[in-house]
Amino acid sequence: MQEIKIYNTLTGKKEIFKPITKGFIGMYVCGPTVYSNVHLGNVRTFMSFDMIYRYFLHLGYKVRYVRNITDAGHLTEEEDVFLAKSKVEKLEPMEIVQKYTVDFHEVLRQYNFLSPSIEPTATGHIVEQIEAIQTIIENGMAYVVNGSVYFDVLKYNEKENYGILSKRIIEDAIENTRALDGQSDKKNPQDFALWKRADPEHIQRWNSPWSDGFPGWHLECTVMSTKYLGEQFDIHGGGMDLKFPHHECEIAQAQVCNHKAPVNYWMHTNMLNLNGKKMSKSTGNYVNPSDIYTGDNAILSKAFVPSVVRFSMLQAHYSSVLDLTNDALLSAEKGHNRLMEALNNLSNLEVNNSSSIDVASWKQKCYNAMNDDFNTPILIAHLFEGVKFINLIKEGKETISQSDYEVLKTVMNEFTFDVLGLLNISENNNNNDKLAGVVEMLIEMRKQAKENKNYALSDEIRDKLLEKGIQLKDGRDGTTFS
Ligand code: AMP
Ligand code: ZN
Repeated sequence: MQEIKIYNTLTGKKEIFKPITKGFIGMYVCGPTVYSNVHLGNVRTFMSFDMIYRYFLHLGYKVRYVRNITDAGHLTEEEDVFLAKSKVEKLEPMEIVQKYTVDFHEVLRQYNFLSPSIEPTATGHIVEQIEAIQTIIENGMAYVVNGSVYFDVLKYNEKENYGILSKRIIEDAIENTRALDGQSDKKNPQDFALWKRADPEHIQRWNSPWSDGFPGWHLECTVMSTKYLGEQFDIHGGGMDLKFPHHECEIAQAQVCNHKAPVNYWMHTNMLNLNGKKMSKSTGNYVNPSDIYTGDNAILSKAFVPSVVRFSMLQAHYSSVLDLTNDALLSAEKGHNRLMEALNNLSNLEVNNSSSIDVASWKQKCYNAMNDDFNTPILIAHLFEGVKFINLIKEGKETISQSDYEVLKTVMNEFTFDVLGLLNISENNNNNDKLAGVVEMLIEMRKQAKENKNYALSDEIRDKLLEKGIQLKDGRDGTTFS
């Protein structure tokens, strides 16, 4: 098995990765809060872990990859996003959850993600969360006020280190926080909610020993990660912005419940920026994943296939900030197409008795890149060295033996498709052709419906296509679509 180094946020060092059980890996990644559509920034974080998952599988590890769905609770301690959204959209909270979970899965499908092994939901683990709160109270690290339960951060910090992950010094935090305004039940501003009593208008609520209410937003990940991966597991991931307080709180909760540190390697991915600022729903500075393949966004000069976005994102290391720009996508498209063209040529290469190129050391360089904390930009540079080999062999300027040819073919294909998760553009084009054929068929059916005065059906076809991002335009020469 290849030796992999991983940058561990917990220690601040790149470390040789040693799984708890040889050959097996337990990995937990914080999933989306399904109260709105995911944006491309979210996609970047999930894509980084998809690539990491893919590489582990490629190396032959047996991986249990758990990525949750947050379908209860709130973004801040003051606001419940599901309640706020249900008022605006006049939907049941679980209708909101369903709508955006379906949307999330559709985005993942478009961007060629592998499914995690388990995708647990917060609402499916209320009983376990109540049990965890009971344990934390019994162990003296939580207190109950007016039906809500809070984790006592200062008490925890007397024996443990609250700040072990984020490297924050709690004493500094105390100095810099405003005093509580008297509205809060908390003893200290640093304390966080494990259980919140629900106000009367609150729809998502569960019975508990303390009140009718709902769990605090950090608890679900502690409960679900340890339930499926054990009290101590290998890797926990998420975006940088979750390091504090979310992951810091996860460590504290798990430590109190199980008397051990829950995670050996904490991995944090960096942000996708737009216009120099973090992509984010709340500031309105974001691009929808579907805008990419419709081209329907002011920053885009054209539509791109999702595989080009994958290529563009993986050209940056997961730990560096990346800016989404039209120029970056245009140049990624060129690189992506050049790679695919070379892969298409690979099957027709002429084989010789001997090789003039060193395929074995090139192969090892590809692995070395990935073994060095999943360095996909370096891997892609080596794949382009492979592209150069292919082109030179094709032009008769280099030679390759049968056995080296097999290695070149396997490494190029496996890294491009299995590890980076790219899709061959011609496959995409093929799918686009098929899609165009289906839309033409629907346009014809709509025309017939109109001729039969079945306007309900003709409108339904138009509206359903629009929901999928396909707009029909009726003109003098018939109907076109974009
Ligand atoms: P959320 O649904 O807000 O909890 O976000 C889901 C995941 O996306 C988390 O791991 C976040 O850290 C990550 N994320 C949010 N915004 C960005 C961004 N602009 N770039 C990369 N990852 C992000
Ligand atoms: Zn989480």
